[in-house]
Amino acid sequence: MLEWLNPVKGFGVTFHTMFTKVPTIEYPEVKRPTAPRFHGRHQLNRWADGLEKCIGCELCAWACPADAIYVEAADNTEDDRYSPGERYGRVYQINYLRCILCGLCVEACPTRALTMTTEYELADDSRERLIWTKEQLLAPLQEGMEEPPHPMRLGETEQDYYATGRGRHGTQGRPEEDSEAVR
Ligand code: SF4
Ligand code: SF4
Repeated sequence: MLEWLNPVKGFGVTFHTMFTKVPTIEYPEVKRPTAPRFHGRHQLNRWADGLEKCIGCELCAWACPADAIYVEAADNTEDDRYSPGERYGRVYQINYLRCILCGLCVEACPTRALTMTTEYELADDSRERLIWTKEQLLAPLQEGMEEPPHPMRLGETEQDYYATGRGRHGTQGRPEEDSEAVR
């Protein structure tokens, strides 16, 4: 009944759309802010003295469903220290040709070394450039930080780093306070 109205209804959709505000964003000149917990590229965080939080344990690599992370650990020595404790991540790479930005690696990290930023502009025309290295992923040095290698400044042992409120649940561990990191 009243089937002859169907074409008119169809045009109704067209006219409605013609007068609806266009949602097009003039990217890249205009960038819409992401959600605060958006999963963008990763960041390797530092302690307040500049030492690296990554201990080279490879848990992130094992948790990754896309096999996108490659880690090689090395031993710290008193003269050549990059992180509190025994080991640090000497080589750290994330392959953004494989990464699906799921965040499982962040969940697996025991030291909150690895978080994700809201940066999403990861496209490139070079395979090599899409494999990000440790140097690219490391958080920039903030005021009061010192480029490793250097001795532990926040305590005598690695336990001091975690126990003094600067650990995973302390001020340095909160994702919103890891520079640029959101997760
Ligand atoms: S975000 Fe997901 S896919 Fe990407 S490196 Fe982490 S675990 Fe792997
Ligand atoms: S980022 Fe975290 S999980 Fe990955 S190797 Fe470093 S400490 Fe381990």
